[in-house]
Amino acid sequence: MDVFLVESLAKEDGPSSVPLTHVPMWIQLRNIPFYLLTKKLAFDLGECIGSTLMVDNNARGSISDKFVRTRVKLPLYRALRLELLLVDEITGEEVVVQIRYERLPNFCLFCGFIGHMEARCDVPMTDQKIMYNLKLRVLPVHFEFPPHLVLARCNGPGLAPKVCCPAMASTDPSQPGRKARCPRKWCC
Ligand SMILES: [Zn+2]
Repeated sequence: MDVFLVESLAKEDGPSSVPLTHVPMWIQLRNIPFYLLTKKLAFDLGECIGSTLMVDNNARGSISDKFVRTRVKLPLYRALRLELLLVDEITGEEVVVQIRYERLPNFCLFCGFIGHMEARCDVPMTDQKIMYNLKLRVLPVHFEFPPHLVLARCNGPGLAPKVCCPAMASTDPSQPGRKARCPRKWCC
């Protein structure tokens, strides 16, 4: 399916003056350690991908494979993100957070942009190779989808996860204790 964008108009706006640059979408964030599963982390990771509109109050999936969901305003002017990296600052453990998109519209497997497919890609023919795959697109999770875990708002003092991202100014750098950070090379 192709993306269908709708934007509200102010009285003084003409239709051609309203930019259609974002699409709202539920994303799933997978492979996060159990002790870091919080609404705050889901919110912050959403800010790395676009801008967070809301967070599902529940983690979803099986006991051994929980994931959190965030509704984001996804920018169409950059490629889809495949993953984000967290680093636990106490243990040094690196965690690759996998991103999945619910109801993901058609996108290009060469460049990862929504809005065209491979036949219309601007990437020069000599550089064209499959960099993305259709596993990024997942079925939407319905709210009654069992089993689930009610998410804590945050980890609390001493267990506050953090990720490094320019759009994550809401994190408090003075917060002590367990932290997750993103190495600079992974930043947005
Ligand atoms: Zn393309």
